[in-house]
Amino acid sequence: MAKVAFTDSQRFVNVGKCLCLGRNYPAHAKEMNAEIPENPVVFIKPSTAVIGSGSRVIIPPFSRELHHEVEMVVVIGKDGKDIPREKAYEHVAGYAVGLDMTLRDVQAEAKKKGLPWSVAKGFDTSAPVSAIMDKRFVRDPHALELSLKVNGVLRQRSSTANMIFRVEYIVSYLSSIFTLEAGDLIFTGTPEGVGPVVPGDQMQASLESVGTLTVGVERSPITVQRM
Ligand code: MG
Repeated sequence: MAKVAFTDSQRFVNVGKCLCLGRNYPAHAKEMNAEIPENPVVFIKPSTAVIGSGSRVIIPPFSRELHHEVEMVVVIGKDGKDIPREKAYEHVAGYAVGLDMTLRDVQAEAKKKGLPWSVAKGFDTSAPVSAIMDKRFVRDPHALELSLKVNGVLRQRSSTANMIFRVEYIVSYLSSIFTLEAGDLIFTGTPEGVGPVVPGDQMQASLESVGTLTVGVERSPITVQRM
């Protein structure tokens, strides 16, 4: 079972499901030639996709194109269903910075065929997450600089102020579909600047007031084709 610790190291959560938003920053929707959605685009990663800082993302043998997407992660601390917006923060334990690692070639093929994104988004190691900062230390989750460097070079930088759907709406909306449980992680979408990483690269993700996450990239040593 994947565990993610709080920055004070005294506590941790057992990770449940990872609920992820697509197209939550206008400039990213534009770079993907996608419409700005009326409702959030939602997909799920299994808890087995989660890895911590200092780990490596493994490119599976059936992909040639791994992309980084840096995102603010909301950590659920209290179970809930049909949570009203004004009570959303009661269900939030804290925040982390995460990477929604994406097999862009596999996703493009799925989009073309109208198939789900589970393989492109949910493969093992696809969800690196930093330690969790308790919400008490994050005054406003919509005023944080979010950035990603690859090998020391800045690739993505934006502010969570640019999110289309905000935390209180996201928690309320998702809880109308899925029961939220303590330990669930919500990946809130990536800003513009997504792009490829290759074996040997080092990614450093940062979220102001929350923390940093450092992960490497390698190719799976397994060369057999799927099925
Ligand atoms: Mg994403």
